Amino acid sequence: MKMSFDDLHRPFRAGMRRIEHKEWWLWTSAALIIFLLTLGLISFLIPMLQSAGLETGNLQIKPLARGLLGLVLLFDIYVVYQQLHIYRIRRQFLEREEVFRVITENAADLIAVVDKNGRRIYNSPAYQKILGYSPEELAATSPLEQIHPDDRARVLGAAEKARLTGSGERVEYRMRHKNGSWRVLESTANVICNAKDEVEGLVVVNRDITERKRAEETLAHNAVHDGLTDLPNRTLLLDRLGQAVAHSHRHVDFKFAVLFIDIDGFQVVNDSLGHAAGDALLIQVARRLTASLRRSDTVSRSQYAHEYPTLGDITLARPGGDEFVALAEEVRNPSDAIRIAERIQERLAPPFSVNGHDIVVAVSIGIAFSGNTSVDPQDVLRDAEIAMYRAKSSGKARCEVFDNAMHASALKRLQLEAELRKAVDRSEFLVYYQPIVSVGNRQIVGFEALSRWQRPERIVMPDEFIPLAEETGIILAINRRLIPEACRQLRSWQQLFPSDPPLFMSVNISPKQFAQDDLASEIGRLLQESGMDPRCVALEITETIAMADPARSAAMLAELKTLGVGLDIDDFGTGYSSLSRLQSFRVNTLKIDRVFVSRMDSDHETHEIVRIIVMLAHNLGLSVIAEGVETEAQLNLLKHAGCELAQGYLFSKPADPQTIGKLLASNRAGTIPAFRANAASVG
Ligand code: C2E
Ligand code: MG
Ligand code: MG
Repeated sequence: MKMSFDDLHRPFRAGMRRIEHKEWWLWTSAALIIFLLTLGLISFLIPMLQSAGLETGNLQIKPLARGLLGLVLLFDIYVVYQQLHIYRIRRQFLEREEVFRVITENAADLIAVVDKNGRRIYNSPAYQKILGYSPEELAATSPLEQIHPDDRARVLGAAEKARLTGSGERVEYRMRHKNGSWRVLESTANVICNAKDEVEGLVVVNRDITERKRAEETLAHNAVHDGLTDLPNRTLLLDRLGQAVAHSHRHVDFKFAVLFIDIDGFQVVNDSLGHAAGDALLIQVARRLTASLRRSDTVSRSQYAHEYPTLGDITLARPGGDEFVALAEEVRNPSDAIRIAERIQERLAPPFSVNGHDIVVAVSIGIAFSGNTSVDPQDVLRDAEIAMYRAKSSGKARCEVFDNAMHASALKRLQLEAELRKAVDRSEFLVYYQPIVSVGNRQIVGFEALSRWQRPERIVMPDEFIPLAEETGIILAINRRLIPEACRQLRSWQQLFPSDPPLFMSVNISPKQFAQDDLASEIGRLLQESGMDPRCVALEITETIAMADPARSAAMLAELKTLGVGLDIDDFGTGYSSLSRLQSFRVNTLKIDRVFVSRMDSDHETHEIVRIIVMLAHNLGLSVIAEGVETEAQLNLLKHAGCELAQGYLFSKPADPQTIGKLLASNRAGTIPAFRANAASVG
């Protein structure tokens, strides 16, 4: 049964029309009949009255009858005129109704008329457009049927209120689309009353606000989720953590663990492959982490108790950067949390494929276990982070559980960072120099510039501050000062001890520096300002940095090469580079790492490796510096292997410029023993 506005009003309009016609004919016929009757009566009565001799001089029958007829005619005309007027008013009413009909039929809102028994007697066409139901389908069902069961009571309440007060409140509810999905409607109801002011039904106007709701929900979702991985962000994590902390206060048996997961060396990926690749990696890591933390609902818990050591939920969040946090609820003890951490590490072990590169990801995980940790959610997170830093500093790719000693060491680290920043401002960094000598005649041919931190009580060695300086970026400021200072010093020694070729200086380039896109222009500027011949300067890049992103390294090294500087691969042998790849980097020199040099006189195999490295390097046109030469035996072996340059405590430890100046003087004078005596006294 089609029930449209037209249908609703068709009988009414047809009735109106019928009544109009009937009345018209009735009144016109009545007027005509009355007129004809009057006329007939008069024509019948006049001769009768005249023959009865009723006509006198004063009483003339005919004019009287004419007058009466005229009156009847006037009355008839009046009646017909009235009918015409009524007809016109009704027409106007119908036209106005037509306008209302057009508006209702075309309105985007869903308009329904419900009778006092709750039956739908009209649904606007928007119902079909928005909800997919035909008028027949709607008529065949109760209005409540398509409403979400959870919303029905509210809708009925609003309708009842409308009936009692005349107009209902705005109510939001879900209605099922014919395709099974839910649409959100915003609705207001108004009553229709009859002439006796009794409620006859309701007019309900519904607006489809699904898209608006969706947009609002998206905004609300985005406020607490990370845009890249769609995992909960820090805000939502802290909220859930707050709930876990509160729950643990109420229930002593409830324990939770926070696992702070940080990708080792992520910065290298980001700096070398670019941010887009870094983002792609984070998305893949997030997926694997989610999968590794998901408990299959179909498996029995006891069977998988080892794999799923938590009885409650695990929330994975990404508070920022390369950090992920898992909040595991209902964990029994720290060992359970460690098992979760091991599972994560295991699942992340297979390489990730990003832009055609296979990337192996290791993570350091810090665990804060409720009971051993703070009570404020922020502090719990911080404790887990501190434990993560401990895991990183004790060799990465591992996990650590937070304890109070860690808290103390984290505070120390923060203090060290603050002191490092102050040290930069106060120029507390010194440059020490370690000679590089020719293996054949022990002549000093150059130096490596190495940083030292002059503190009031002692001189601090690089391994105590370089890692933190690198992590915090302070290394950039340190090296920006080191290069001009080392150049100034070299110029002075070159003038005092002229040689052919002249003395050279090597400086170390850290991963943070190498990641700087403007590194070449910065070094070019520093060299120009110090007036140093670039050919006398070599830049040392570790093999690991160079190999992190070979394509970028090749481009960056080519750019540095255009400055005219030499390029050295530092700590060679500790990474996984092939010699031919290094040749494509157009480097000049390999610095064989001291682990090989230190073992070569006791281990034949290492000796062989060094010999082969030297041979292959020479074949590729590279020169070789052996690092960490401490004994005559090592020097002899290097000489036989054909290694031309060496650096190590055998000749001198890194030392201040005055000491090195004296060393140079004796070295040039050929007094090697004095040279060695000096070496023992410096650090
Ligand atoms: P590196 O570039 O491989 O520097 C050589 C390190 O080996 C120096 O340690 C040096 O003292 C040490 N060494 C040299 N010969 C011997 C030896 O015969 N035996 C032993 N046991 N060690 C020897 P140092 O000065 O402590 O520097 C350590 C690392 O710190 C350097 O390794 C370098 O990577 C980094 N570094 C130092 N200063 C700077 C700097 O100003 N900038 C950057 N980016 N890194 C620096
Ligand atoms: Mg070096
Ligand atoms: Mg080295």
